[in-house]
Amino acid sequence: MAISRILIANRGEIALRIHRAAHEMGIETVAVHSTADADAMHVRLADHAVCIGPPAAADSYLNIANIISAAEIAQADAIHPGYGFLSENAKFAEIVEAHDIKWIGPKPEHIRTMGDKVEAKKTAGALGLPLVPGSDGAVATVEEARAIAAEIGFPVIIKAASGGGGRGMKVCESEDQLETLMKQAGSEAKAAFGDATVYIEKYLGDPRHIEFQVFGDGNGNAIHLGERDCSLQRRHQKVLEEAPSPVLGEEDRMRMGEVCAQAMRDMGYRGAGTVEFLWENGEFYFIEMNTRLQVEHPVTEAITGVDLVREQIRIADGKPLSVKQDEIEFKGHAIECRINAEDPFTFAPSPGKISYYHPAGGMHVRVDSGLYAGYSIPPFYDSMIAKLIVYGRNREGCMMRLKRALEEMVIEGVKTSVPLHQALLEQDDVKSGDYSIKWLEEWLKTRDG
Ligand code: ADP
Repeated sequence: MAISRILIANRGEIALRIHRAAHEMGIETVAVHSTADADAMHVRLADHAVCIGPPAAADSYLNIANIISAAEIAQADAIHPGYGFLSENAKFAEIVEAHDIKWIGPKPEHIRTMGDKVEAKKTAGALGLPLVPGSDGAVATVEEARAIAAEIGFPVIIKAASGGGGRGMKVCESEDQLETLMKQAGSEAKAAFGDATVYIEKYLGDPRHIEFQVFGDGNGNAIHLGERDCSLQRRHQKVLEEAPSPVLGEEDRMRMGEVCAQAMRDMGYRGAGTVEFLWENGEFYFIEMNTRLQVEHPVTEAITGVDLVREQIRIADGKPLSVKQDEIEFKGHAIECRINAEDPFTFAPSPGKISYYHPAGGMHVRVDSGLYAGYSIPPFYDSMIAKLIVYGRNREGCMMRLKRALEEMVIEGVKTSVPLHQALLEQDDVKSGDYSIKWLEEWLKTRDG
């Protein structure tokens, strides 16, 4: 039986995004929500809604038993997890499938492998992806760490095998810091992720973050949809993303894209995935793979015209990919600004009530957001409240349109990162695309005086 009713196990803009794709396919939606989100837009738009618990995510959006019960009560025949929350929880994926509900996501074993960064690196290496030099697996002792550091040279980065969201990483500049940082990294990883396993990588000096969007049908067919450049980051978290990357030529795009697609064919990967690399002096170094839809997926949609959520749903339904590799054309340029409810320069959170809201509009302007005037942003969840995605025939045109769209965007009642994005667009390095993953933090320091 084809999917007819999808439960969306998420909130905010991504819940709306999934609802929209479902309705465009004639599929009904079931929203789930915490008591804090009873008035949220994703609840208002969905065909059905079920409250799954109190505000804390651990009791609601991460509450597997309640979500499965909601799916049964609402008779959903599929679950889409969005990003964050349970989207990369292999156990959840297995439980969903064990209840005869279609899981709109990768095979649980692939989620598990890629969720453990040590395993992910091993797998990626075996599949022929270029790796960051570093330990061959987990590093258990300071002596081992010393030996690896001596081989690859300082600085090194100590990473939690179970880390994510830009957390669980320590940069170590020299031998005398190694023992302390190894111990800290292990105990912090244990506290944050319940797993003390760490591994070591060469800390690259000034790389860019370039990732490839891939899609597999689970039967050995896979494609890539080009890259996104997510180098503008703060605390290892993405702030603005663009496609294509300002530094990649057609030949590199197709070569690396094909390497990633081939890896997915060899794995028998199913659904959407992102293969993340650091890029320095023309070389790619695999860092991790995300087995889910990414926040920044709309820039890929803008330059390829492919609806990625629709593809996810089709694949979960056992249908083939709707496009072949040679049918995918990369046209123009797209940029996404993540808009958070926070001070634009100190980044202090700013939850509260939206007194006035006017999203930007016009040609090639897309706003993905659950905001409306009168809505109160709850303090319990991620601070991202909107994404502004702008397309142009070329990068310069895209930036001009983005500037215009940011001027139009009015969000009153809370502080937002709109002024940060406006300031960024005025910087020569941003205009020319000449920035690495370190650029934004260094620029913020110069602003501080
Ligand atoms: P997470 O899963 O937490 O997102 P990643 O492994 O994807 O962790 O790394 C997140 C970011 O951390 C990268 O985009 C990059 O900015 C930085 N980073 C990770 N590994 C390295 C490295 N070896 N050298 C320099 N920077 C790194």
